[in-house]
Amino acid sequence: MKVLVIEDNPEVLQSVQLCFELRWPGVTLLSAAEGQKGLEMTQTEQPDVVILDLGLPDTDGLEVLRQIRRFSSVPVMILTVRGEEMDKVKGLEMGADDYVVKPFAPAEFLSRIRALVRRSRMPELQPGEGPFVRGRLRIDFAAREVTLEGRPVKLTPSEHKLLYQLVRNEGRVMSNQALLEHVWGPDYASESDYINVYVQRLREKLEEDPRNPKMILSEGGVGYKFVGPD
Ligand code: CA
Repeated sequence: MKVLVIEDNPEVLQSVQLCFELRWPGVTLLSAAEGQKGLEMTQTEQPDVVILDLGLPDTDGLEVLRQIRRFSSVPVMILTVRGEEMDKVKGLEMGADDYVVKPFAPAEFLSRIRALVRRSRMPELQPGEGPFVRGRLRIDFAAREVTLEGRPVKLTPSEHKLLYQLVRNEGRVMSNQALLEHVWGPDYASESDYINVYVQRLREKLEEDPRNPKMILSEGGVGYKFVGPD
């Protein structure tokens, strides 16, 4: 597995390096100290995971993220500084998959990376589970392809997994907690921000009017329900 760290602080970089060396030695670690360089390396090196610092010397980390999302759905873990809650939500909205607050504990950091990697793999499909086709929406979970009226829709791995959970339980309310546990993992049951931001992102990609959703419906703060389009 290849991990790219875009971070200008050598101490943080070193502690990330140490985390992997000691506890996950199979990982090849690449690093870039500037946003532009990180962007280039994301393109040329095709990492399996990108760890992205928000405070970079040349470009804002969120801008780097925005540009990565133009060409790649690689899982992105944001490194943020304690107390920057706004950045966290903004990062999720712009296509990050998760975030870690600096300074971080190695065990928590690695368990978040592991969850990220698990999430980017496809969910186990039921035997005989073919593409889901309903009205103008077609989802091939095995090939990870979504089309809307024949046009391809690009989803990140986390978006894809969330959509899978919702669609597989079509017509049934899924609680926020159940969605978080299924999509993000057991440690995430209380991270309601993730669900709200990700549902919004799915709506923007799939709904005709994201503010008046017809497919992914809110159920009174309890959870969400998928209703197939006609
Ligand atoms: Ca920095």
